[in-house]
Amino acid sequence: MGKIRNVRRIVTGTNQVDGAGVKLVRVLGPDTTQEFDPFLMLDAFDSRNPADYTKGFPWHPHRGIETVTYLIEGDIEHGDSLGNNGRILDGGCQWMTAGSGIIHQEMPQARPRMLGLQLWVNLPRKDKWVRPQYRDIKAAMIPKVDEAPGTVGVISGAYGQANGATQGDYVKALLLDVALKPEATWNLPTDPQSTLFIYIVDGEGSFGGAKPSVKSRRAVLFHEGDEFAVQAGPTGMRFVLAAGRPLREPIAWGGPIVMNTQEELDQAFAELDNKTFIRE
Ligand code: FE
Repeated sequence: MGKIRNVRRIVTGTNQVDGAGVKLVRVLGPDTTQEFDPFLMLDAFDSRNPADYTKGFPWHPHRGIETVTYLIEGDIEHGDSLGNNGRILDGGCQWMTAGSGIIHQEMPQARPRMLGLQLWVNLPRKDKWVRPQYRDIKAAMIPKVDEAPGTVGVISGAYGQANGATQGDYVKALLLDVALKPEATWNLPTDPQSTLFIYIVDGEGSFGGAKPSVKSRRAVLFHEGDEFAVQAGPTGMRFVLAAGRPLREPIAWGGPIVMNTQEELDQAFAELDNKTFIRE
């Protein structure tokens, strides 16, 4: 039997305003890249007030990363420089590879509640210049595995016999939406070399028997190990679990662009200025 992963760090995000005026909680960012590698950024959204988010994220560039937007509830209209447009709806996920460069907009629409997150997955140095693309993963494409402790949605990677709609083309990423019943225990065998964290959307839980439990709206990063174990609190627990092997490459981060060197960032912003940023 394996080594259970212990809690390494608990991160409480900060309230921020981004885009044209979207209130969000920035959970992960430039300060957490070393420990959370290959995951760069995590923004969490939870609002019942459309004024908090309908100003949206008008046209802006990305390069060098993948942005993964997962909505438990909500509606985001989007369009991009490849000519794609569409909507991310309740339970759906947009997996967007910015690669060599994309310009897009993300505009949340007014709904009773917007509940979801955006995770940035870094691209390996060798893949920073791949063709941009996006994958529209509808809710019906995400397998839901019902078990005694609760339900596991498989967005990316595999859980038991269930394969997600993607495995991650560059960083092989496991991304699960786990809803546990009150006091349920749940275990997951894990790649010992992967970075693994969860973001608690609702409820609370404890790890390795440690008390007190960790409450919602926090990211919990775990040490290496080959098994993840959690016990849900008295009202149950819902969390998104992300895991992937670290890249251990230098990071140069400039707003929506994440490269390996300052020169590459300077080049990107020069290209934005002279309108040569988009290659595809
Ligand atoms: Fe964006």
